Amino acid sequence: MNYDKNNIFAKILRGEISCKKVYENDYVLSFHDINPLKKTHVLLIPKGEYIDLDDFHNKASEREIIEFNKAITQVVKILKISNQEDGYRVLSNIGKNSGQEVSHLHLHIFGGEKLGRIVL
Ligand code: AMP
Repeated sequence: MNYDKNNIFAKILRGEISCKKVYENDYVLSFHDINPLKKTHVLLIPKGEYIDLDDFHNKASEREIIEFNKAITQVVKILKISNQEDGYRVLSNIGKNSGQEVSHLHLHIFGGEKLGRIVL
């Protein structure tokens, strides 16, 4: 499967569609999910063109992988949901069984309230 340059997150990265930004650096962008499933629900995406976590780990540089992971901690600090506060959950859908809708790697970060069971 090839990366689709017209996926919605690619458009957000190009500035063609707006987003409610939480954090950005040279490697990542984080923004609020348009349809929040919890009180706090943001997405974290790498700026590089990767379909999902497997694609990312196979093709990204070590620096991109480190920056992506470290950005989680940066984002939850900004949102005040870190482990020093009330905590959060990270989730990523990969492939068809997961129901992944947008084919640009993204982590969902949930918090701001009790999150309940991990899976249904
Ligand atoms: P997934 O099912 O893991 O691919 O999740 C895709 C997520 O992207 C869903 O939670 C959507 O609500 C969210 N989403 C889709 N379009 C936008 C957008 N334009 N801005 C912010 N979030 C979006």
